[in-house]
Amino acid sequence: MAGSTNLFDSVNRQFDAAADILGLSQEIRELLKTPYREITVAMPIRMEDGSLKVFKGYRVQHNGVRGPQKGGIRYHPDLVLDDVRALASLNTWKTAVVNIPFGGAKGGIRCDPSKMSQHELEMLTRRYISKLSMVLGPTRDVPSPDVNTNAQTMAWVMDEYGRKNGHQPACVTGKPLELGGSQGREAATGKGVAICAREAYEGVMGRSLRGARVALQGFGNVGSFAASFLHGMGANIVAVADEHGAVRRAEGLDIPALFAYVRQNRGTVAGFPGGEAFDPAAVWEQPCDILIPAALGGVLTEATAPAVTARLIVEGANAPTTPEADRIFQERGILLIPDILANAGGVTVSYFEWVQNLQQLFWNEAEIFEKEEKVLVQAFRDVADKVQRHGCTWRTGALVLALERVRTANELRGW
Ligand code: NAD
Repeated sequence: MAGSTNLFDSVNRQFDAAADILGLSQEIRELLKTPYREITVAMPIRMEDGSLKVFKGYRVQHNGVRGPQKGGIRYHPDLVLDDVRALASLNTWKTAVVNIPFGGAKGGIRCDPSKMSQHELEMLTRRYISKLSMVLGPTRDVPSPDVNTNAQTMAWVMDEYGRKNGHQPACVTGKPLELGGSQGREAATGKGVAICAREAYEGVMGRSLRGARVALQGFGNVGSFAASFLHGMGANIVAVADEHGAVRRAEGLDIPALFAYVRQNRGTVAGFPGGEAFDPAAVWEQPCDILIPAALGGVLTEATAPAVTARLIVEGANAPTTPEADRIFQERGILLIPDILANAGGVTVSYFEWVQNLQQLFWNEAEIFEKEEKVLVQAFRDVADKVQRHGCTWRTGALVLALERVRTANELRGW
């Protein structure tokens, strides 16, 4: 969530920095910023205690000129339409940066899943998909998991969509393997974050990852896999914070042990015996070389950015940095690899899942990881070219690349 900052405004301010470099007219800016379609639905659900609750759900399809709309479904009590718009537009730019044939969408339901039963969540998911199914589908809009949704949620999405439209696994990605999910999808976003960290730290900064100190906020899907891959590359994960606690060890945490602990301990690092506990709010000031926000949006702000000790930030989370914090990092010479490049491994492997479903074939994990690596390294180089050519930040460079690709597709199709 964006806290007090309006996330859509922040994303559009970032867009304008790239649009300035490209000299885009106000008309074209308006066209590329405005979502193609926004839907709000009300979902009455009979709760298990007999009460009737009306939930609000959203789907924003931002831009589909490069292919079917693509984006996650988020369940969160603070979800508002402007956040969904912002995340949908980030997905338009993300799919363009990695050059996969998708547009950008996002959706979600304003609800608190921690206070709901599995049965209530299933009913809510089915009602949401049933109300939206006319704008979804393998060639229209393909949802995937996001915060507080998972492979089980996507199984319900596929089943509900199939009730009206026939069995079509390519209508949703992030499914369980047993229902046509892809090998490697679970680890894909974290792996992409680690690949981008390696390309930036070694390739751009000329340092070795061996012994580099890494701190993370978030040890869920993105954070835990990013930490595991970086650990495998020789980095020392020195601090990890999550919603319920934080743990640090200057010599490096035992990441396989922490990974196993979190999965047996209700998903939190709190109480891990292999390190010292500390206040999760102090994660930004932990001494480290690489910092990975992998939890919430809007956390690196004017208030937290000055304390950051890292020389490299790799955005695992979507929109973790406000424009004010961006400026602080730029002034301090801290290299920042933006979300639309750093966490694009997830949507890349979602694309592989869609391709496998459409062609009814299956790749193994090694094949998936090899393809993901190729796509991300190419995208990293494409962004590096823009940064060099325009002398801009990596966020603006990534957006310049994305805007050029989307604008060209739009021109070719006709405005
Ligand atoms: P997740 O639910 O698996 O994990 C979230 C983590 O953040 C957990 O460790 C949780 O404890 C922590 N967290 C939550 N609130 C916190 C707080 N107030 N302070 C500190 N930590 C807190 O979610 P995820 O799938 O890992 O997603 C994390 C971020 O990455 C989100 O911004 C999401 O949009 C983004 N993202 C995810 C994917 C993906 O494939 N899962 C892809 C691209 C981007």
